[in-house]
Amino acid sequence: MEYEIIYSKRKTVGLKVTPELKLVVHAPFGLNRKIIDEIVQKHSSWIEKRINIIKEQPLPKAVLPNEILELKEKTKEIVLPLVKKYAEQVGVTYTKVNITSAKKVFGSCTSKKHLNFSFRLALYPISAIEYVVVHELCHIKEMNHSKKFWCEVGKILPDYKERRKLLK
Ligand SMILES: [Zn+2]
Repeated sequence: MEYEIIYSKRKTVGLKVTPELKLVVHAPFGLNRKIIDEIVQKHSSWIEKRINIIKEQPLPKAVLPNEILELKEKTKEIVLPLVKKYAEQVGVTYTKVNITSAKKVFGSCTSKKHLNFSFRLALYPISAIEYVVVHELCHIKEMNHSKKFWCEVGKILPDYKERRKLLK
């Protein structure tokens, strides 16, 4: 089994399987490679179990601070053309598009026709992003979640319920 060793001042050996399914061994300085090999061998079933657990986990949605800037750029690149495209289809105009750090909402729309989208959208499939864009654009027409509002969303994206599920 291949692995990466990270030596440090620690006194014990620690094993870790990364989200990328790589095995990382944290070892004290100077520990013999053969001993590390043996430890890895001995824990092979634990490692296998960890790998399977990680494989079955849904994609991690936790974002590190240094990734936020990058994701904001990415979200902007994806969202701006979509807003333009769908604003025409919905038949509305907007004044501003912001990419925010919102954690709990994917998008919002103000009475001044400002559209806000969370950078987290970049972590979701494009069909889900399209849904959020259309949802917010429809709020320019209907500032609520009435039947009429959903009817507007459905006109543009008849499969919006399926798309919405992707955001959960
Ligand atoms: Zn809404």
